[in-house]
Amino acid sequence: MADVFESLVGQDRAVASMRQHVRNPVHAYLFTGPVGSSLHDAVLAFAAALQCPKRGCGDCEACRLVLEGKDTDVYFAERAGVSWRVDDLREADRVSRRRPLGAGYQIIVIEEVDLTTTGASPSAPALLKSLEEPPSRTIFLLTAEEVPEALDTIESRCVEVRLKGLGADDLEAILTREGADVESARMAALAASGNLRRARVLVRDVALGERMATWRAVPERLTGTPAASAALASEISASLDRAIAPLQLLQEEELEHRIQDAREMGQRSLANRKDLDAQFKREQRRFRIDELRFGLTALTNVYRERLVESLEGVNQGETRSGYRVGASLQAIDVIVRTNQRLSSNIDETLLLNDLMLSLMEL
Ligand SMILES: [Zn+2]
Repeated sequence: MADVFESLVGQDRAVASMRQHVRNPVHAYLFTGPVGSSLHDAVLAFAAALQCPKRGCGDCEACRLVLEGKDTDVYFAERAGVSWRVDDLREADRVSRRRPLGAGYQIIVIEEVDLTTTGASPSAPALLKSLEEPPSRTIFLLTAEEVPEALDTIESRCVEVRLKGLGADDLEAILTREGADVESARMAALAASGNLRRARVLVRDVALGERMATWRAVPERLTGTPAASAALASEISASLDRAIAPLQLLQEEELEHRIQDAREMGQRSLANRKDLDAQFKREQRRFRIDELRFGLTALTNVYRERLVESLEGVNQGETRSGYRVGASLQAIDVIVRTNQRLSSNIDETLLLNDLMLSLMEL
């Protein structure tokens, strides 16, 4: 295996900064970047490099333990709710005061730093206190999508490592590195809207091509009655149900893994099972929305192709083409508005029905 940073495709600037810092690390790092931009992978790679005598060779025992999540000096903090509470951070603080068991550092990972600054016991000051004077061999690694102004004080204690959103080419390269064939990697990368985790799910999804075809066929199937358009909407809904199956499989595997780990540690059951289930549900909702976005993009592309064709027709003086230019533009507009309505609490059936009816009326 090449060194631990090689897997962070498309993150050259962040990698260059990490390579620098591994030589002479400070006490706290804050990794920021959009959802799906490999924040977790970056933290793991950096932690491995910190523990490795060769600064992240990728094949020694130290690297292997970190990458497999088995280095006892790398502590992943866990939280009970949506934001971090003082109680969650107390344990992280306790571990941070410990001397590392191995030759490397005591590393504390706190992912998705979402802290409270108000209320009876706000969590931001608690973390700030831990970051203030950690022992010399302790390093904090935090991640966040973005940092709200209220957390400026936390940010000022950390060196920021900024990751960029991944493009389709980056995702394709990552998936092929991980063993996917070129064609599946390409299609999954295109459909993943920059989200690495989603791309990894999609590449295992044999029905992706079918779903793309269903969306692309919408315009020509929308010639009939409102009943026909409702049928099409529910067909797409059903395809979303099927789309989520590979994610559920991945989650089951993860759960199995964690239960196994808990057993190895001598625990009879998984302590945070409920939170894990809630986290999986959130992920499924987000996946469904990404899947809808992907479908809307596929549909937009069909209307764009129609637009280009009819513009050519207009140039050649075909009378019907003028009308088709207008209809295609309006259709694209309808899709843009549908995209804007997407959020985690959207009524999906209503949204799809609205979309199909509006497109049919054009
Ligand atoms: Zn190594």
